[in-house]
Amino acid sequence: MTKAIEKDTQQFYSRLTKVLSKIYQAKRFEDAYPLVEKTLLALFNAQRITVYQRNRSSKDIVSRFKTGQDLQEIRVPITASSIAGYVALSKQPVVIKDVTDSTELQNIHPALRFNASFEKNIEFTSRSMLVLPILYQDVLLGVLQIINRRDGKYFSAIDLKRGKQFAELVGQKFRYDFGCTEHPFDFLIEQGLIEEKAFTQLESKADQRTPLTRLLRDHARLTSQQIGQSLECFYQVPFIGYNPEKYFLHPLCEQVNKAYLKNSNIVLLSEQGNETVFILIDDPNDTKRLIEIKNVVGQHDAQICVGLLDDIHQYLGVVSTNNASEGANLSSILDELDDNQDLEVDDSSSEAEEVSEEDSTVVRLVNRVLLDAKRLRASDIHIEPGKGKVPTSVRMRIDGVCQEIIQVPATHAKATVSRIKIMSRLDIAEKRLPQDGKFAVRLQGQPLEVRVATIPTVNGEGVVMRLLQSGDPVSYDELNLSPRNAEGLKELLEHPHGILLVVGPTGSGKTTTLHALLATLNTPEKKIWTAEDPVEITQPGLQQVQIQPKTGFTFAAALRAFLRADPDIILIGEMRDKETAHSAIEASLTGHLVLSTLHTNSAPETITRLLDLGIDPVSFSDALLGVLAQRLVRTLCQSCRKPYKAKQEEIDYLTRRYGKHAAELGLGDKVKLYKAVGCAECNHTGYRGRTGIHELLVSTPTMAEKINEGATIGEIRLQAENDNMRSLLQDGILKVLKGDIDFDQLRRVIAE
Ligand SMILES: [Zn+2]
Repeated sequence: MTKAIEKDTQQFYSRLTKVLSKIYQAKRFEDAYPLVEKTLLALFNAQRITVYQRNRSSKDIVSRFKTGQDLQEIRVPITASSIAGYVALSKQPVVIKDVTDSTELQNIHPALRFNASFEKNIEFTSRSMLVLPILYQDVLLGVLQIINRRDGKYFSAIDLKRGKQFAELVGQKFRYDFGCTEHPFDFLIEQGLIEEKAFTQLESKADQRTPLTRLLRDHARLTSQQIGQSLECFYQVPFIGYNPEKYFLHPLCEQVNKAYLKNSNIVLLSEQGNETVFILIDDPNDTKRLIEIKNVVGQHDAQICVGLLDDIHQYLGVVSTNNASEGANLSSILDELDDNQDLEVDDSSSEAEEVSEEDSTVVRLVNRVLLDAKRLRASDIHIEPGKGKVPTSVRMRIDGVCQEIIQVPATHAKATVSRIKIMSRLDIAEKRLPQDGKFAVRLQGQPLEVRVATIPTVNGEGVVMRLLQSGDPVSYDELNLSPRNAEGLKELLEHPHGILLVVGPTGSGKTTTLHALLATLNTPEKKIWTAEDPVEITQPGLQQVQIQPKTGFTFAAALRAFLRADPDIILIGEMRDKETAHSAIEASLTGHLVLSTLHTNSAPETITRLLDLGIDPVSFSDALLGVLAQRLVRTLCQSCRKPYKAKQEEIDYLTRRYGKHAAELGLGDKVKLYKAVGCAECNHTGYRGRTGIHELLVSTPTMAEKINEGATIGEIRLQAENDNMRSLLQDGILKVLKGDIDFDQLRRVIAE
């Protein structure tokens, strides 16, 4: 290296350092540019420098930092037809000796032209150029255009090298200005939508056949929108999801071999009333594919967008193969939906039927919805038609909360509802009146019984399906009773006769509790009969009967039949009327242990309700062992709940709400509480599953007197409290302190 070059290099780096420190001090590159312009020109010994910036929502690069007098904004589309546009598209630097030499330009790319129109009205003529892409992680963020060396020479290899260094450092700055992420899915992790560990696991499972975006959607329960947002943050181009109502295949697609588009993972889309061609590609960093497709698009106004591979294939009408054991996923089934699909009527469907992939797409769609519901442990599925062309929404109630799962295109809404009606043996021609039915299917080897109600709405027929999760009883310990209640209830169950009631609103887990209690009593020497509507949980050793009110086989009738069958223990699903209540009490007084339920909100209310029904207070007070009232509260996800030190106000609040026995909580000034966070395992809700909170009223001699006197609900409650009952709220607070639930969720289920 000669002395002169060495000196020049030193000078370059000292100037570069000066420029960079100004740029990095500024909030945005834009603000720093006027301050560094002079130094920058000296740095490259150039007459003019233009910096173009990428605009995420635009298909152009825009120069906002022009040197010279004119403040005109230059917008250049990302295509091979201009020099800056070509560099943006190819992401390759170019060195041009003379921009007016069309042969030199066409040697770079056949379509390349120099647009002199920008220079028409100003005293400036471009000749030689050094143009470089500004990149971060290979994502295009801008273009650096250095024009005319002051000494009239061409730009050299050293200039190119220095230009690259500078462009790279500008890229770092743009990265912060734009809020770019370092990897396509960083946003999801940063936002806590998926845990890094879970992400890495999915990433390792992804391959050519199974794109990572599909795994994120299907297994991490992320929405396309969330994934799209993450891709936008990285690629700095707009995301387009699968939205066939809004985007259509562009006529240009007809001119291209479809196999080529499919293999390139590219689709060209158009939008109503918009001339722009949307180039949807799964990896906007793939320059080779983009240049190829830009050749197809030619002079059309085009915008590069990022899309999910499955969505791109769906636009192209290609069905993604999904080799998961559960069969095709919902989106690919939706993809296959065909207006002309005939519904297969299966008259042998009264027995549980095995889900088969060979069924028509509508059939598969319904089966898939059922499978998903079972996997998500949903209790109900709501199929809600939209108005006109608005898609039908499929929502599921999971842990007591409704969530939208998919949308079925309006064109297939009727077929879907009809399919469900056929399965439930309902009249498919009748669409104006509500109908009730049920069906049973076998999903992954397990029977699933579904109760169906159709509801005519102004938008068409809707369906609500209730899934009766048949299964094994939970254990007594899994009921999560407080030690006080667990012990108290166990004592009650040791009585050979009497009546024990489990109460609460619909969906409060009464049946689960009753079967857990029966499981502790279920021994070979005991004869246990149950009458249920429907039978959801089965236990070997029990004689379980499904009542059929329509045919006259009511709870009362079942009870009469049981009493002739020498029972020890009887479960009556529900005491719906006076006759049933009276018979149940009589049965308990004649040497049987009777368990039953009532739809009441609290233990004390249960007593007044039964008295209001007109049952005999003396028999009832004699027979009553106790009442367990309960609710289900969503539990904090054990994987992501976050402990924190409770604030004094929170401790005071809990103490105050617990009331007179608060001392037993043993709260000091250091109390640990938990808050909901959200992770992949809990579908980012922070909650997973539910647990019971309970209120156990044990009948005492004084309580029996109160019942005989026809006491009010207030008097009964007071007596229960004197008998040491803890209320639902108190039990809930215990579980808040255990970290099972949080106060927000507790408040949702307890009327305050
Ligand atoms: Zn979680």
